[in-house]
Amino acid sequence: MKKSLAIIGAGPSALAAAIYTTREDIPTVLYEKGVVGGLAAITDKVENYPGFPSGVEGMILANQFQSQAERFGADIEFGEVSSVKKLNNAIEIIVDNKPILADAVLIATGSSYKKTGMPGEDDFYGKGVHYCATCDGAFYRDKKIAVIGGGNSAIQEAIFLTRFASHIDLLVRSKIRASDVLQKELKKYIDEGKITVHLKTTPQKILSLEGKINGIEINQEDDIKQLEVEGVFVFIGLNPNTGFLQGSGIELDEQGLIKTNSRLETNIPGIFASGDVRSGATMQIASAVGEGASAALSIREYLESQKH
Ligand SMILES: Cc1cc2nc3c(=O)[nH]c(=O)nc-3n(C[C@H](O)[C@H](O)[C@H](O)COP(=O)(O)OP(=O)(O)OC[C@H]3O[C@@H](n4cnc5c(N)ncnc54)[C@H](O)[C@@H]3O)c2cc1C
Repeated sequence: MKKSLAIIGAGPSALAAAIYTTREDIPTVLYEKGVVGGLAAITDKVENYPGFPSGVEGMILANQFQSQAERFGADIEFGEVSSVKKLNNAIEIIVDNKPILADAVLIATGSSYKKTGMPGEDDFYGKGVHYCATCDGAFYRDKKIAVIGGGNSAIQEAIFLTRFASHIDLLVRSKIRASDVLQKELKKYIDEGKITVHLKTTPQKILSLEGKINGIEINQEDDIKQLEVEGVFVFIGLNPNTGFLQGSGIELDEQGLIKTNSRLETNIPGIFASGDVRSGATMQIASAVGEGASAALSIREYLESQKH
């Protein structure tokens, strides 16, 4: 009997892996609890995926990934995986309370960006409220924006966004927790007047006019103010989608992302991880796809080795 692969998730990384494994004649089933195409499918416009010089709608890109994987025989099933367990001769995953056995498993469940929960955040998701500076920063050339967060990633991304934005209001809940090096660099932008830091500040709500963001209301030590901005970038952390791996024995890093070796294999032989759920991932579609392809080649090698 042919050795099989179960992929958890059907985002870009999973679909890229499936294109490779199905072409290698490895029976491949993907289990998806939400939207096929993952975060890419809910992204308005993707401007940095190679091969699309004028950009591409996230949903269209996701549909293309799906069609290509299905053309070679990938089977996409809807269901939520709640556990992964290595048995003697197989790996068991539980999908909607049903046990499924496979010879290898790829975990490609991605990560969710933490939200502030303020009113308007969801309404303007991807259309004024953003979670990725590399992806969406260029939309704010010569515009005023707000950045929310005080950790390393928020400071790093705020500095990156100075390439585009004319001014950045940096909203920090308590104090800045970034490294000394980053804080020194930040000071240069503060001195130039490019970034204004608001400490002890919580965002209250997104303000808008005719369907477009025109400001943000903030609370700074009980003083309610309104700042004029056209975009808001939120960098308050990530929630890797790895809760279901509790008790699996799969090693995670301190953020909860899956640790792998250079072959994208976890500490448990036969269980691989790729894309935004992997420790060290760069949280981009192109890299998630690249990792999916690399994982597929490692999986092929692993399954070959199990035949003898
Ligand atoms: C608003 C926004 C805009 C972005 N814009 C860009 C951009 O312009 N360019 C760019 O390169 N990147 C962009 N990104 C980042 C990009 O979308 C991600 O890096 C990419 O989608 C990661 O792919 P992935 O397959 O690793 O994970 P995901 O896309 O997160 O897919 C994971 C899938 O796994 C499923 N899943 C999770 N847990 C389970 C479970 N237990 N059982 C079954 N299924 C499960 C999820 O439902 C999801 O569909 C953007 C992200 C956001 C949020």
